[in-house]
Amino acid sequence: MLNHHFFDRIASATRTPVSDCMTDVIGSETTSGACTACGAKPASHACPQCGRIQPLAEGTDYFAFFGLPRRLRLDETELEKSFYALSRQFHPDYFMNASEDERRASTERSSTLNDAYRTLRDPVSRAQYLLSLEGYKEAEKKAPPELLEEVFELNMQIDELRAAKKSGDEDDVDAARSSLEDALAGLKEKLSGIDRRLHALFDEWDAAPVEARRATLDRMSELLSHRSYIRNLVRDIKEEV
Ligand SMILES: [Zn+2]
Repeated sequence: MLNHHFFDRIASATRTPVSDCMTDVIGSETTSGACTACGAKPASHACPQCGRIQPLAEGTDYFAFFGLPRRLRLDETELEKSFYALSRQFHPDYFMNASEDERRASTERSSTLNDAYRTLRDPVSRAQYLLSLEGYKEAEKKAPPELLEEVFELNMQIDELRAAKKSGDEDDVDAARSSLEDALAGLKEKLSGIDRRLHALFDEWDAAPVEARRATLDRMSELLSHRSYIRNLVRDIKEEV
């Protein structure tokens, strides 16, 4: 599906009348206008004629940076290929003899490339990024309502473990530790469940008509806040155990 879109994009890029310049497909939507150095058109990340790195078009998000459609189910192989191709293209080694401006441009573009890749490669940070593009603030960590009682229980178990450690009673320590370890296993299962639901929402968002997307994003944002709450809880328990 994604490949299909990617190639659509290539098709539409090559349909634009281009007489004197080759189109660099990957970056075809990241810059606008003519090359700032030699005036060749169309410009991309780098001018196809003179190779100068071009300023990014305003509002270029990380998806557009890679020439990918804004979707949550990304073709990760495509993303990786694009990343390596652009890494080579912007690598500061190629600009060692270039002007200071060009060297700076290559360093800046490399660093944006790395940020963009790190963000999109991981499904959770990709979803968080999409939410921020869609105007969501980073969701506060919130306990899932069905977990509140368990959290209360867990805090008591943590207190018990601390008390047992203090008193030096090995049996009590073992007992408290093993009940926390059971709880940990349960929490990890909950995290996998959340990840499965998250991926289902990815498909839903990708497929939904624009007017129906908000509801999916609301649910995604809530799931992500539960996810980070549980992850923190897991981290806290691990520290005690
Ligand atoms: Zn040029």
